[in-house]
Amino acid sequence: SPAFAAKRYCILGLARSGLATLDALMASGAQCTAWDNREEARETAIANHPDVTIGDPMEIDLAGFDGLIVSPGVPLNRHPVADRARAANVPIIGDIELFALARPSLPPHRVVGITGTNGKSTTTALIHHILREAGVPTIMGGNIGLPILSQPPLSPNSIGTGVYVLELSSYQIDLTFSLDCDVAVLLNITPDHLDRYDGFTGYCASKARLFGMQSDAHVAVIATDDDQTRAIAATVSAPVEVHAADIPAADQIAWPTLQGPHNAQNVAIALGVASALGLDEAQTRRSLATYASLPHRMERTAEHRGVLYVNDSKATNPASTAPALGAFARIHWIVGGLPKGDSLDECAQHFDHVVHAYTIGEAGPVFADQLEKVMPVTRAEMMANAVRSAMDNAQAGDVVLLSPACASFDQFRDFEARGDCFRKIVDALIANDDHQQ
Ligand code: ADP
Repeated sequence: SPAFAAKRYCILGLARSGLATLDALMASGAQCTAWDNREEARETAIANHPDVTIGDPMEIDLAGFDGLIVSPGVPLNRHPVADRARAANVPIIGDIELFALARPSLPPHRVVGITGTNGKSTTTALIHHILREAGVPTIMGGNIGLPILSQPPLSPNSIGTGVYVLELSSYQIDLTFSLDCDVAVLLNITPDHLDRYDGFTGYCASKARLFGMQSDAHVAVIATDDDQTRAIAATVSAPVEVHAADIPAADQIAWPTLQGPHNAQNVAIALGVASALGLDEAQTRRSLATYASLPHRMERTAEHRGVLYVNDSKATNPASTAPALGAFARIHWIVGGLPKGDSLDECAQHFDHVVHAYTIGEAGPVFADQLEKVMPVTRAEMMANAVRSAMDNAQAGDVVLLSPACASFDQFRDFEARGDCFRKIVDALIANDDHQQ
């Protein structure tokens, strides 16, 4: 897009979204300086763009740049480059801000921006699915799918203008200043990522900024099920408030991949957004039935001898594991990893659903000490051990659930690798069992 002609940007971090940003900026005539500590990443940048300047923003003079673009993975509260950029009066931004700046050069369109501690990806994918079923041109981006700047612009069709559905983590919001969402969405707020903020208040303030960027005519849809989202709703003019309780359990039977109390909140939000976008409610409800769940989020990976295997590797904190435990009656629960806090108290309300726990990873011993008081525990340490023991113990009607309530980085590259590992072990043990019959 011509939005960036004659602009100068410095890009720090040349992983997938950094490289996509470089592509988009170079294609629109901007001058770019780029840096990554990894030499191979710098070489890729040069191979793709011989005109790029390579320079470390910790070394070069930043004065005169229109922005320093960092990936949301850079912890700005601790990284010294933040001070250098501030001293040179250069805004620190991300690819969502570039998208926001490029919007005037795009065909007419609308933007839905979605944030919250848990359920962002599910709700983003669900709204995207509802729009697609309605025939509206739509793409999703942000924290999910392909980098937004590498996707082709949406053109209107006979049904309406295109809708960009953006999943926004609080880190991405911190790097965004001009995104005026037609519909801005807040799901829930519970403590998470507090290492990156000045406490819980800073984290809440980051989420609230999404609404501060909206112009008056635009819509805020907020699930006011917790105190923090209620406090933010009170600062927003005329928010649409929805509640998980708006979606009674009886309704949910029609939507096999969206069961459980947490999905009731996601569905309530999706219905609110669909209505704000002017979609037909009956059709929206029908498309809930055809939504396929995302990998690693309550993903039903296998069924064997009447036992269901569910991969919820994406549950990286106790708040997101709690609803998973609430969703089934007799659970063999694989839990542990790199802990975010030592306590599973947030899950305790559903401990009576757990038949047996299998602890893994760094948090394993602490969790086992806590859980042993209320349920049988196997200190499995490794995923293969945990799955094998769970399969041995489970009876028809039981569910083997990986919902670790922890980050994955102690034993895995990321939560996807952890979920893939679970799925592979389940498949291998089932194949072996079939073979022996
Ligand atoms: P995010 O993108 O915000 O991390 P996901 O949709 O990927 O959220 O879901 C992450 C985890 O949170 C999953 O384990 C899921 O079971 C749980 N979860 C989903 N929606 C909600 C919700 N509205 N409230 C609490 N937990 C949720």
